[in-house]
Amino acid sequence: MSIDINNRQNQKVSEYINKVLDLIEKEEINEAEASWITKETVDGFREHVNPGFLEYRKTVTEGGQFAAVEWSDNGSCFKDVNGKEYIDCLGGFGIYNVGHRNPKVVKAVTDQLKRQALHSQDLLDPLRAMLAKILADITPGDLKYAFFTNSGTESVEAALKLAKMYSERTTFISTTRAFHGKSLGSLSGTAKGMFRKPFLPLIPGFRHVPFGDIDMMQKTFEVCAAVGEDVAAVILEPIQGEGGIILPPEGYLKQVRELCDQYGSLLIFDEVQTGMGRTGKMFAAELYDVVPDIICLAKAFGGGVMPAGAIVAKEEVFKSWFPNPFMHTTTFGGNPLACAAAIATIGVLIEDHLPERAGEVGAYFLEELKKASKGHEDKVQEIRGQGLMIGIEFHQDEIGYEVSKGMFDRGVLVAGTLINSKTIRIEPALTIAYEEVDKVVSTFKEVLGQVKA
Ligand SMILES: *Cc1c(COP(=O)(O)O)cnc(C)c1O
Repeated sequence: MSIDINNRQNQKVSEYINKVLDLIEKEEINEAEASWITKETVDGFREHVNPGFLEYRKTVTEGGQFAAVEWSDNGSCFKDVNGKEYIDCLGGFGIYNVGHRNPKVVKAVTDQLKRQALHSQDLLDPLRAMLAKILADITPGDLKYAFFTNSGTESVEAALKLAKMYSERTTFISTTRAFHGKSLGSLSGTAKGMFRKPFLPLIPGFRHVPFGDIDMMQKTFEVCAAVGEDVAAVILEPIQGEGGIILPPEGYLKQVRELCDQYGSLLIFDEVQTGMGRTGKMFAAELYDVVPDIICLAKAFGGGVMPAGAIVAKEEVFKSWFPNPFMHTTTFGGNPLACAAAIATIGVLIEDHLPERAGEVGAYFLEELKKASKGHEDKVQEIRGQGLMIGIEFHQDEIGYEVSKGMFDRGVLVAGTLINSKTIRIEPALTIAYEEVDKVVSTFKEVLGQVKA
């Protein structure tokens, strides 16, 4: 490219950047700006992000336009560029536990941003120490040391590496329907064949057993021991999220804990989705009165404002990383902005009693949804949940897709895409008002009445 063309190209990019920055700065946008944003977004996805999103996105409106572009959010709602408001019952698959842009979380992050955004990587950064102490106080049992990450899959990677280093073993037991993330290590624990197959072989040593089947778990432990492949750890979600809100059978998690103890294996709870108050307790581990050796956190951990995750482990296990703290590292994990967000988030969860609220509102929500589905047994197979983690399972994918599409048109966002709608998940902000719950339920009832079995 000649210097001249290069300059002209840069000038064009620069103009575009300034236009975008102007829009970001604006508190209100007009109609012309809204349609420019919509066009640029759809074109950008088609030409430069991935056109596949335009097909599979749940944001398909009646008539099949792909025009729903989000722009702002607050409380338990978000708005699209045209100003239409939606009650967010998908909640980014459970990231908005303290609500969208909770003022205390936003304040902590902006206050921190005014002083320092990221850490030097060399001096001791104070917020990491303070957040680790808070986590030791609020996590179950004797979980004590924390390592910070930027996402759920990174938390799982950290847990797997810690378990390997501690145990000097390489076998892991995971469960069917499990979701632990999509990087190569965590994908090894994830169950869905469609996501795994193109990337095989993954990390050697993973065995999957049916979730909830304690006999299979026990037999697998026995076989592993017999063939000299001792189990480093069992990894599971106390309540499976992505798998379709699957609750563990009575006593299951306690029995898994006992098997782990019997075989000297660790128990890793992936609470990326169940943690931070979603199920009615701060952590689902408390619901079942089981203390894992390592707990994985992310999603709501950063308060829906910053990407943030963590693992918290018992000292006995974590001390494998004492001699050399650089055995596992990440540049951005535990950065001051993320820590400020997580600290404020935990503060809000405790002060506003949000775990308890999730339990109460969730029980009401579940009951009302069940009532609304009466007479539609030909469409709805089961409605189940714990706290504000609720799943509506349909007999067929297509019914779920039609229901989620209909609800979206009426201002309620629930999960449900063309390829995955058999069980739609309801995971709103734990701050959701009862009136909003009622609106969601009446919308569900109305749409259900219109959809054909
Ligand atoms: C979402 C999720 C993950 C992965 O988190 P990412 O931040 O998307 O990497 C891992 N485990 C569970 C249980 C999850 O729900």
